[in-house]
Amino acid sequence: MVRGNRSAASTIAVIGGGFSGLLTAVHLLRKDPGLIVRLIERAPHFGLGRAYATGDANHLLNVRVANMSAFQDQPRHFADWLAAAGDLADNRAGEGAFVSRGRYGDYLQSLLRDHVGDAGNAGRLLLEQDEAVAIRRSAEGYEVRLALGRSFGAAAVVLAVGLGPPRFPAVASADVLSRRTFVGDPWGGDLSHLPDGDILLLGAGLSMCDVALSLDRPGRRLLALSRHGLVPRTHGPAPASEPPSGPFDTPREALRALRLHARGVGWRSAVDSIRPVTTTVWQGWSEPERRRFLRHLLPWWDAHRHRLSPASEERLAQAVANERLSVLAGRLEALNEAGEGFRATIRLRGRRLAVDRHYAAVVNCTGLTGDLKASPLLEDLQAQGLARPDGLGLGLDVSADGALVGADGRPVRGLHAVGPLTRGKHWEAIAVPDLRVQTAAVSRAVLAQTPRCGSAPLPTA
Ligand SMILES: Cc1cc2nc3c(=O)[nH]c(=O)nc-3n(C[C@H](O)[C@H](O)[C@H](O)COP(=O)(O)OP(=O)(O)OC[C@H]3O[C@@H](n4cnc5c(N)ncnc54)[C@H](O)[C@@H]3O)c2cc1C
Repeated sequence: MVRGNRSAASTIAVIGGGFSGLLTAVHLLRKDPGLIVRLIERAPHFGLGRAYATGDANHLLNVRVANMSAFQDQPRHFADWLAAAGDLADNRAGEGAFVSRGRYGDYLQSLLRDHVGDAGNAGRLLLEQDEAVAIRRSAEGYEVRLALGRSFGAAAVVLAVGLGPPRFPAVASADVLSRRTFVGDPWGGDLSHLPDGDILLLGAGLSMCDVALSLDRPGRRLLALSRHGLVPRTHGPAPASEPPSGPFDTPREALRALRLHARGVGWRSAVDSIRPVTTTVWQGWSEPERRRFLRHLLPWWDAHRHRLSPASEERLAQAVANERLSVLAGRLEALNEAGEGFRATIRLRGRRLAVDRHYAAVVNCTGLTGDLKASPLLEDLQAQGLARPDGLGLGLDVSADGALVGADGRPVRGLHAVGPLTRGKHWEAIAVPDLRVQTAAVSRAVLAQTPRCGSAPLPTA
């Protein structure tokens, strides 16, 4: 067991120390002064997760400062933090600005520091740098097992483990995947070893934009390939608008309503207007309808909903103008080794014949996935019947308040999930404006449902 005189009955384990895990821990500690939270993170840094661990100053937030507060009830929290650090003073755009993701990571770590360093909180937030590999039911609730062979007891566990790595292209051989110049997960390591020459980027979404911004330099030609060749649209003026009145009963109807609305208010305002009702609309669709949306509309939705900052767009447009970046719609039909590089067989959209091209390197920018097989912990929970995938392959099946749904279809008491792996339930569970609400709600539910030694069940609000 992990050393220390910690009562399992007053301990809650939060697995994953990215935005979702950190904010869940903060809410739990704030709401219950008697509680101990063990935050477990396998990476060397806490509070950053995949999104904010980047040191590349070209990687900007894709949400304005004004909407990136970690707390729903303190909308100016991030802007005030930046202003106190002198960061907004020279910036005329102020809260409308897009700062670097690394700077946002500094903000998140400052929240962590406040809690660890606060004398009133001494010993209440325990940081475990290790990987959680298994969870077992125990008399006290759960036993969490860590990769180093240690374990500890907790009354409840919150999974905040984020999405899994991108899927490898099915047409690539094992030899291709093992080459250093094939990068399977651009967030899993650095790209500085990649050579000059032609580089193939698989995917054309936000991940591709990040990678292109990092790799762009004279001597390189980047080709981004995706099924539709759609790249993220850019932020711009988007006056607030009421959502259209619908109907939204099917994805087709919702698209029609949105298009009509966009004619009046502009596409940005139209897409933004339905955000407050997106989860209700998503939950109103049957599973086959949700599948249809994912199969046919997802690329369009993503391109309009998750936008690039104007500065990033300008840099990418410059790379396109300098012929250092191009984007094509098509399909990768084969990827083989060829000398020091790769031969890619690509069938362009609408063309009958495929073409072979040589690339010095290939980067998989197809985006993170909800594939539960990528996590030994999630596999183990499924094997015990304590978790099951949602029906859409987006992540975990959860109840309305975030409890894992077990193999028997019933919520598992004391086991919760928060973050993008719960998209199957909520759809909008990706960006900070949604996750800050979700982390507060899940922490309330955890406390309400966790009977603890010497304390009656807590009220739900
Ligand atoms: C590249 C990128 C850019 C983004 N940019 C923005 C943006 O500008 N604005 C915005 O609002 N949203 C953005 N997002 C969305 C992002 O998903 C959320 O903002 C948020 O960071 C998600 O945090 P998370 O904690 O749920 O997941 P993650 O950040 O993935 O964190 C999960 C953490 O869990 C850890 N972990 C996993 N399994 C275990 C285990 N078994 N044991 C211990 N630790 C484990 C991982 O190491 C990781 O640190 C971006 C996402 C990405 C990927």
